Amino acid sequence: MGTVKCVGILTSGGDAPGMNAAIRAVTRAAIYNGLQVKGIYRGYRGLITGEIVEFKSQNVSNIIQLGGTILKTARCNEFMTPEGRQTAYETMQKEGIDALVVIGGDGSLTGARIFAQEFNVPCIGLPGTIDNDLYGTDTTIGYDTALNTILEAVDKIRDTATSHDRLFFVEVMGRDAGFLALNGAIASGAEAAIIPEFSTEVDQLEEFIKNGFRKSKNSSIVIVAESELTGGAMHYAERVKNEYPGYDVRVTILGHLQRGGSPSAHDRILASRLGAAAIDAIMEDQRNVMIGIENDEIVYVPFTKAIKNDKPIKKELVNVLRELSI
Ligand code: ADP
Repeated sequence: MGTVKCVGILTSGGDAPGMNAAIRAVTRAAIYNGLQVKGIYRGYRGLITGEIVEFKSQNVSNIIQLGGTILKTARCNEFMTPEGRQTAYETMQKEGIDALVVIGGDGSLTGARIFAQEFNVPCIGLPGTIDNDLYGTDTTIGYDTALNTILEAVDKIRDTATSHDRLFFVEVMGRDAGFLALNGAIASGAEAAIIPEFSTEVDQLEEFIKNGFRKSKNSSIVIVAESELTGGAMHYAERVKNEYPGYDVRVTILGHLQRGGSPSAHDRILASRLGAAAIDAIMEDQRNVMIGIENDEIVYVPFTKAIKNDKPIKKELVNVLRELSI
């Protein structure tokens, strides 16, 4: 039996649809297993300032369908300093919190790893990011919903692109990972995706133009991952205007709307399973692992592995997009 009596839960970094379903799952699974739960507001900032409330089962009623995070989220530079983390540890002791569940992306889990090491506090991470860029899990909480939001938008853009015979560059989020762009392109029937993973290998714009979409199509949609490595959609629109005049080019940047909205069934189920598994892990005295899902099975991924390794893009997906966009 585990040694933990009280679990603190926080959401940190970029918000993602399904975070609320995860908060609900962690809270209910903890209570079910006889643990006390405390909700920490505004990510690590709330851990430093003590913005903490005890959560009962009813605190998480009626939230599974909500986007965003009821615990709020924040970016907290103070937690990046040893002094900030020391204050956070003191708050935990004062509140009687003896384990943490952190829901967030790469940065949030890096913070959890450092904190866990410094103060010997059991920390469990849940992958909460629309980018799907955490290694060791097939998918992350929020990714599926964001992908569906992209589809809805691109379907609408296609109507106007076709009517005017235009070339649209649609920019989607993804930071350094092309999952949203590539799978968004496949699912929306876009003609190409420009992703950071290949930006040093080939000129993806030239490749797309060379593939000669004009032979069979008058309009076209290219999904571009927002990233310093790709340069973003505006960059490609400018290039086409300068290097290939004659195309009627437009840009749509989907931006923050990709983060919002009610989580999909997939994200709700994923968040529920991962949240319940986080409490299983705590009961088993696991520490410093991210809970992931691989081949539909729950897996424990050491923080160092989840954060340090780049999740590879499947070449097969690139080929599918290329073959089907002729
Ligand atoms: P995400 O979790 O979505 O990747 P960020 O990268 O902004 O978001 O990280 C969220 C928060 O996690 C930061 O504001 C900070 O409080 C904490 N964090 C990130 N990196 C570190 C680090 N190296 N050391 C300590 N805390 C960190």
